[in-house]
Amino acid sequence: MTKQTLSFQAEVAQLLHLVTHSLYSNKEIFLRELISNASDACDKLRFEAINDSGLYESDSELKVKVTFDKDAKTLTITDNGIGMSAQEAIDHLGTIAKSGTKDFVSKLSGDQKADSQLIGQFGVGFYSGFIVADKITVESRRAGMKETEGVRWVSGGAGDFEVEAIDRPARGTSVILHLREDALDYCSAWKVKGIINKYSDHISLPIQMEKEEWKDGELINPSDEKGGRQPGGMVKTGEWETVNKASAIWTRPKKDITSEQYDEFYKQISHDFEAPLAHTHNRVEGSTEYTQLLYIPGKAPMDLWNREKKGGLKLYVKRVFIMDDAEALLPTYLRFVKGVVDSADLPLNVSRELLQESRDVKAIRDGCTKRVLSMLEDLANHDKLPETSADGVTDASTAGVTDVVSTEDKAEAEKNVGKYTKFYSEFGAVLKEGLGEDFANKERLCKLLRFASTSSDSASVGFADYKARMKEGQEAIYYITADTLAAAKNSPQLEVFKKKGIEVLLMTDRVDEWALNFVQDFDGTPLQSVAKGAADLGKLQDEAEKKAAEEAAETLKPMLAKLKEALKDKAEDVRVTTRLVDSPACLVVKDDGMSTQLARMLKQAGQAAPEVKPVLEVNAEHPLVKKLDGSVHFNDLAHILFDQALLAEGGMPADPAAYVKRVNALLV
Ligand code: ADP
Repeated sequence: MTKQTLSFQAEVAQLLHLVTHSLYSNKEIFLRELISNASDACDKLRFEAINDSGLYESDSELKVKVTFDKDAKTLTITDNGIGMSAQEAIDHLGTIAKSGTKDFVSKLSGDQKADSQLIGQFGVGFYSGFIVADKITVESRRAGMKETEGVRWVSGGAGDFEVEAIDRPARGTSVILHLREDALDYCSAWKVKGIINKYSDHISLPIQMEKEEWKDGELINPSDEKGGRQPGGMVKTGEWETVNKASAIWTRPKKDITSEQYDEFYKQISHDFEAPLAHTHNRVEGSTEYTQLLYIPGKAPMDLWNREKKGGLKLYVKRVFIMDDAEALLPTYLRFVKGVVDSADLPLNVSRELLQESRDVKAIRDGCTKRVLSMLEDLANHDKLPETSADGVTDASTAGVTDVVSTEDKAEAEKNVGKYTKFYSEFGAVLKEGLGEDFANKERLCKLLRFASTSSDSASVGFADYKARMKEGQEAIYYITADTLAAAKNSPQLEVFKKKGIEVLLMTDRVDEWALNFVQDFDGTPLQSVAKGAADLGKLQDEAEKKAAEEAAETLKPMLAKLKEALKDKAEDVRVTTRLVDSPACLVVKDDGMSTQLARMLKQAGQAAPEVKPVLEVNAEHPLVKKLDGSVHFNDLAHILFDQALLAEGGMPADPAAYVKRVNALLV
């Protein structure tokens, strides 16, 4: 292949511009990205070599070497991984193949601050080299190809790049960064080591640098970082030393890993800038042996709701990387969890299809699910500080176990405050999917749910909190579903509950109605929608009220029959209710019926929804209802009453123009 000049795909040029302009404040990440690519390349070789050991070409000690040349002003990262053919170099370094990254580029706003936040979610990979280099040369040869089939790729990071064939005896890839004038400090062993230490300690491959020693150096100021030696400076010795721990973080004992290291590993695998909310790290022994290191992120990715996007964990088998996004390792409703599973039992050549059927995988999945739920329970239990009384003794009823809180425990506890609230606002709706998906853990999931209520605008009330506050004689957990919090709060159906001071949960997530289908009760107390069935407050209603209602129903009977006749196309039934205080009427559905809200949602989504005819309930005490009988406008008033009830719950009259006409006629 003769030398040719090719253009970058438009998106690459855009990405490059962004990378060099917005990541300037955090330059050093380029090294993490390039070492991570080198490590991926070694993983790929190891994986392909499972079926073709010849690819090792008698060099099976996979490693990454980092070298620099002060005179040439270059920093080079070399691996003996899978390498690239000329075509692969053109494809992989000149275009963006991953649809996720393409989407990402299309979402860029041009606002640098916002864009650099976004970029953190994707990982800039190879192109991050241009943060510190004004030219990058890549020399590579793919494993298994001839020595004459190497490739050199060169670019200044503007619109185009050059490729040509070269001889390259060594398998793998060298990325040579021609450093910018303001990045020459990366030609320093201690600086580079420091960065490797920070970001790449857990890379399971050895990362090697050439050993240096002092030449004729005199100790001038020992407190100086470089030992304060001067003349001669550092000279290379020709010996290589491994500068990282070179063991995958999850294989190391917990006690040797700092929380910074855990966080750093998370950032690496998730491309998230923010630290995770929690992690769990365990070696599981028994019939299935594996190690899990799982994280709960603090922020939902942009594509959380994209159902085609695979969630899942990184799967390793005996430390060999097998695949990303192994979705079989966790149920779909936990797709936000990031992490690694390293199995000791699965075959190395396991495929996605095989994973779905494997009994070991089922055991891993159950184990990971339980761990994630435990993590969430832990966050939920520490979301608020336990209430302490004046003498510093924790109130045992709120804290459960601990009596006296030490200062360290307190500091630890403070760190966790608000984390569950944060988690829930990002992922609560996804978690609810689990009610329909994971019956085995339904009870645990129910305890993790939080809702707004008539006594709390934020989604902070759990079923257990609610139960603890239930009124004497209250036999159900009351809730209402609506499109918005405002609509829920102002529903006429809540009037009697407000009057009696009974708390009602306000459910406004789209999935709530569906999810609640799977929850009949919590800890023995049934859930009851305040918009379904007849208003039965049971023991909460006194005898006098019941009697008054019965009497009203009796006297209004003829009028109700007339109403029913007038509204026969709209209402399933018309009856008197005790649930209203200020409003004249409201709509409810039969006990087993689909709520009008859900039916409306399905329709909006273009799905077939059964025609639900609601029941119109009227407030016998309301002046409008009292005046209705005998009115010459009876028919119009009947329809207005119905349509207003519909409007009050956020619905729309079937014929809005007719509604307006009727109201105007009355106004005139
Ligand atoms: P990502 O690594 O996220 O796929 P990059 O932009 O970092 O994106 O790299 C693009 C592609 O270039 C990689 O997917 C890989 O195919 C190839 N590549 C990059 N670095 C190397 C390397 N050191 N060895 C082999 N291939 C590499």
